[in-house]
Amino acid sequence: MRVEKIDLKNLSQAELESFTASFGKERYRSIQILRWLYQRGVHSFDEMTNLSKKFRQALEGVSFISNLHPLLVEESRDGTKKFLFQLEDGNRIESVLIHDKKRLTLCISTQVGCAMGCRFCLTGKKGLKRSLTTAEIVNQILAVRETLPDKTSITNIVLMGMGEPLANYENTLRAIQLMTHPEAFKFSSRKVTLSTVGLLPELEQLGKEKVRFRLAISLNASDEATRSPLMPVNCFHPLKKILEVCRKFPLQPRARITFEYVLLQGENDSPEDAKRLLKMLKGIPSKVNLIPLNEAPGIPFKKPSEERVRQFQDILMEGGLTSIVRTSKGADISAACGQLQGKLYNLN
Ligand code: SF4
Repeated sequence: MRVEKIDLKNLSQAELESFTASFGKERYRSIQILRWLYQRGVHSFDEMTNLSKKFRQALEGVSFISNLHPLLVEESRDGTKKFLFQLEDGNRIESVLIHDKKRLTLCISTQVGCAMGCRFCLTGKKGLKRSLTTAEIVNQILAVRETLPDKTSITNIVLMGMGEPLANYENTLRAIQLMTHPEAFKFSSRKVTLSTVGLLPELEQLGKEKVRFRLAISLNASDEATRSPLMPVNCFHPLKKILEVCRKFPLQPRARITFEYVLLQGENDSPEDAKRLLKMLKGIPSKVNLIPLNEAPGIPFKKPSEERVRQFQDILMEGGLTSIVRTSKGADISAACGQLQGKLYNLN
């Protein structure tokens, strides 16, 4: 009988510990493996030189180390880079590396495509192919890092690429645990952001998890009647209920929830929308990211004028709500928010 080998990068720290214990090894051996995989980014067991040859051979007998290699890297005029990866089964995903002053942020995908169908997003138009494994999520970080001269230069990770992270709950959480584990990637929990449309049961569950990160909610409207046609998911996970969960969400000291709001001309960009938004978020430690739409063929909306965007922001700021206008980067290579399509996802 052929036994399937285990991809070590699909294991959480605790699972890796149990796995190494099954060889009769102490906990520190699992820590050594974590460091090799995520701090050094090794591709083979032979490189794990502080493990005995016998143990390395035993590991190789039942497990393997998966990797991703970019199929294509495109660079935008503003320095943003988009990485196209092809997965084992031929599906394709994208990650985006964004330079912004002192920050170097990597935006990663959690699914091939997306089932949420937000009408202002190209990824949503293609539907969902499948969810990514934990290994496929973390390998995006390792593969992009390998292309950089300084392996520590990525400062922030955002789970805002293709897919809805909470629709791939277990793998996303395991990947975040590895990102923030002091012996794995070592990112501070304040530097990892998960962005969700607000799937209610998963959002509630998220608040009970030990693993910490920043939470962002893709809001895009200030009432149900506006949100439902823009985001069909709102019919099942309504705004009012999402905000109730956010109100009770356990946050780290001084942390705030980021609410993302894609501004669409004539749809959700009026002063009344801004005033409703202000009222709606009262009592929730929050900040708002305003994202003027990235227009694209097939998206039936327009970007509001700069004046309209400023007016919207002013209303929020005057009401005491921090709001930042995010000028999306990488639009000329289709790497901006809502533009990722994984080059049509599949070769076949
Ligand atoms: S905006 Fe996010 S959740 Fe909505 S369809 Fe696009 S990828 Fe999916």
